[in-house]
Amino acid sequence: MKDEAVTMEKIVALCKRRGFIFPSSEIYGGIGSSYDYGHYGVLLKNNVKERWWHALLRERDDVVALDSAIIQHPRTWEASGHIAGFTDPLVDCRTCKLRFRADRLEDAACGRKPSLHPGQGPDCDLTESRNFNLMFKTTVGPVQDEGATVYLRPETAQGIFLNFRHYLQFARKRPPFGIAQVGKSFRNEITPGNFVFRMREFEQMEMEFFVPPDQAGHWYEFWRQARYDWYVRLGIRPDHLRLRAHEASELSHYSSATSDVEYLYPIGWQELEGIANRGNFDLTQHTEHSHQNLEYVDSASGERYLPYVIEPAAGADRATLAFLCDAYDEDQIEGETRTVLRLHPLLAPVKAAVLPLVKRDGQPELAREVTTLLRDRMQVEYDEGGAIGRRYRRQDEIGTPWSVTVDHQSLEDATVTVRDRDSLAQSRVAIDTLAAELEARLYAPWRSPKLA
Ligand code: ATP
Repeated sequence: MKDEAVTMEKIVALCKRRGFIFPSSEIYGGIGSSYDYGHYGVLLKNNVKERWWHALLRERDDVVALDSAIIQHPRTWEASGHIAGFTDPLVDCRTCKLRFRADRLEDAACGRKPSLHPGQGPDCDLTESRNFNLMFKTTVGPVQDEGATVYLRPETAQGIFLNFRHYLQFARKRPPFGIAQVGKSFRNEITPGNFVFRMREFEQMEMEFFVPPDQAGHWYEFWRQARYDWYVRLGIRPDHLRLRAHEASELSHYSSATSDVEYLYPIGWQELEGIANRGNFDLTQHTEHSHQNLEYVDSASGERYLPYVIEPAAGADRATLAFLCDAYDEDQIEGETRTVLRLHPLLAPVKAAVLPLVKRDGQPELAREVTTLLRDRMQVEYDEGGAIGRRYRRQDEIGTPWSVTVDHQSLEDATVTVRDRDSLAQSRVAIDTLAAELEARLYAPWRSPKLA
């Protein structure tokens, strides 16, 4: 069931109020559906990406990392099929001059009042639908001729295929193994929207897992489940997450099977990540277009083949948004409504806030020492401004799991109180065991307190 306490408006407002995410270029009036991540947003999204790397690189030894260029050789996109086929159907309205996705008219609003769906108003005058390529074109070098046309990558995946050979040669990898990459991608979406859910510039976390062809079915099932489990481990409530297999009619031309991990956002069930069995489509295409042999050759048996590829492709922004929506909560404390982000501690932008109870009597100095003690192990924040209750609320809103308070007793017996964001329980902890105590809590199994 949809979580009624959470609306996109509340998430957008909280993100702005607390400096997670702002509309981009606001002093110039903004630029449609571009967003900038502020301090806490950077920390949160970095943690999302870090947990993704952790799951692939640290927890396994069959995945390696890559960071390829955003601007690739333009023939990349001929081979991948993006120049010919990475399009959405577009219609123009001759009256209001707006453009819409022809297959999503029911999600769009006509530019005139009363606001109806495009095509439904008395003055609507829609053109025939035509294919609109979503890739951003630009030119390299000082001459703007045809030969200089390049594209901003619309996905990170192709950079992986272009480098596949290096990994066979230098990383001495043999299938099954994966190459993982995180980075910006660009799509000139016709109708971006819903905050960071659909932007024209966004970050992807993609992995191509190369396997012997007869193992493709097994690894597809494996990665479907592994990727679903990753979100659950990071606290997404299972009743807000599902795996949906694509119908045959939805499959891309290169895919024999695809599943989406979907999250129940305030706007309904939407794709968070896609897991596809791409067969050997990409390596075949790049072999043909580059005239390079991209086969894997087994040195012992002499067997040679083009590996099949299983691709889990996630969006760092959509994941960040899902974690924010899933964590958002409101409760009542002493008759006041408290807004709190019940984020998994590993995702929380700040793990511990160190707060002197009062700004005198040596408390700020001791609190600074405690901050220094923790700094090496985790992201901490020192805050001495304002009433303690307000400082707690502020930390609750950014999702800080523990507030460490230094009070008069701290100066006498070298202990502090640790307040838990979710249970509000307070416990006294000796300063010299504080870092170890918080670290143990940070890595302990975690379950969303929003689950009854
Ligand atoms: P959609 O159908 O929603 O447009 P897609 O199927 O085209 O998404 P993929 O090409 O599979 O998306 O990209 C992998 C992931 O990248 C998506 O699951 C999503 O998390 C993210 N992503 C894709 N497009 C955008 C976008 N415009 N803004 C933010 N994230 C995106």
